Amino acid sequence: MRFDVVVIGGGLAGYAAAIRLLEAGKSCALLSMGQSALHFSSGSLDFLNYLPDGRPVADFREGLAELAELSPGHPYALIGIEESARLALEAEEAFRRWETPLSGSLAQGSHFRLSPIGKLLPTWLSSRDALVAEKGPDGGPHWPYRSVSLVNVEGFVDFYPEIIASKLAAYGLKVQERSFTTPDLEIARGNPSEFRSVNIARVLDQKDNFNLLKDFLRALAPSSDLLLMPACVALNDGELLPKLSANLGKPVKLVPTLAPSLLGARLNRRLARVFLSKGGVLMPKDEALGFSFAEKGSGPARISALFTQNHEDMPLAATHYVLATGGFFSQGLKAEPTRIREAVFDLDLAENPGERAQWTRESVFQRQPYLSFGVKTDSNLDGYWRGAPIANLKVAGTLLGGFDPVRLGCGGGVALVSAFRAARAILSGEGAA
Ligand SMILES: Cc1cc2nc3c(=O)[nH]c(=O)nc-3n(C[C@H](O)[C@H](O)[C@H](O)COP(=O)(O)OP(=O)(O)OC[C@H]3O[C@@H](n4cnc5c(N)ncnc54)[C@H](O)[C@@H]3O)c2cc1C
Repeated sequence: MRFDVVVIGGGLAGYAAAIRLLEAGKSCALLSMGQSALHFSSGSLDFLNYLPDGRPVADFREGLAELAELSPGHPYALIGIEESARLALEAEEAFRRWETPLSGSLAQGSHFRLSPIGKLLPTWLSSRDALVAEKGPDGGPHWPYRSVSLVNVEGFVDFYPEIIASKLAAYGLKVQERSFTTPDLEIARGNPSEFRSVNIARVLDQKDNFNLLKDFLRALAPSSDLLLMPACVALNDGELLPKLSANLGKPVKLVPTLAPSLLGARLNRRLARVFLSKGGVLMPKDEALGFSFAEKGSGPARISALFTQNHEDMPLAATHYVLATGGFFSQGLKAEPTRIREAVFDLDLAENPGERAQWTRESVFQRQPYLSFGVKTDSNLDGYWRGAPIANLKVAGTLLGGFDPVRLGCGGGVALVSAFRAARAILSGEGAA
């Protein structure tokens, strides 16, 4: 099987790169062995919340400039700060084109979202269904609501309404708590270990159950400026809650729950759908296992074939490859007893991780060195193998080295900026080729 591009990894970075390449007329296959980080995330995408010295970022563009000084190996710095900002705008525009509307923009700066335990966190782009607050003049949240009805599903334990209610009350909002159930939800609740956000949504999204929810919320609407629920409804349809809000005359919004993340899973599914609608070939539950190089000529090494679990005898051949397999969490990186290894190509790492004892720190509150491990690249995001760039391999997303997405709060931004950078480099022939 031959394609213009084979993308390895079906997370935010892999899909963004693949869809962009399809839009430019390239034939594209994407293989992915499992769920991506989106399924465990908030569903909001962070651009850059903190600098490496811990200072919060108030203005994204100023933050980028400071980041480049403090952390020249960060992917934004490697790509270039002007270029990173431009690619972030390109990503915002692409989501509009892909009919996947998200609130927030680089130009507006960060807005706030709530964590599952009610912590207010800055972010860049959020689902339109997520409860968010703009930054007020004092730098704190500006809530356009005064009274909130907070509706939990009875027996749902991955959400803490009391904590959320007390946090919102501390911001001056008047909160009434309610719980809701249906006969079908009661049956599902009989299996408590499966009573998780995504499974609840599968029940609640069914027409009869959704109508019961609608009636329940309708009764609360007159006494509420906002109807708030845990993110356990509207799994497949991003239009369901906007339509419900219009019907009730009051906004219905969601707060992320503990994993699995409905908002993240929905975004991942949406990207898969856009990819397929543009003619992409999806190979789910397939793992890239190995590769072969083309016969060595005078130029840089080129990958000629990719061997996968499902295509061991019939390797995937492509003019270009994009590697977006994520970090340790998604097994793009593997920790062996004495070394860290990029799992598919054994690419060069951005920095020497040192001895095993140096990979982690004892206290979970300390900076964890392993979180910034990743592969070496250059401004074109070429992958490197034994000291030299590979002519036809770009790397994107969390697999990139030189940054700690947790400490800096920049995971979603790096995934998108690097995905669009990789696509652009392929389309314009930039890089080691
Ligand atoms: C638990 C968690 C929560 C997070 N929450 C947030 C958040 O709220 N906001 C934010 O901005 N960032 C968050 N991040 C950071 C997150 O990593 C990035 O935002 C982004 O989603 C990463 O996308 P990615 O495409 O680079 O990698 P991933 O999402 O990790 O996707 C990699 C994909 O590659 C596949 N894969 C791996 N190896 C192979 C192989 N050999 N063959 C085929 N497929 C393979 C995996 O199965 C996976 O589907 C979070 C990260 C984690 C781990």
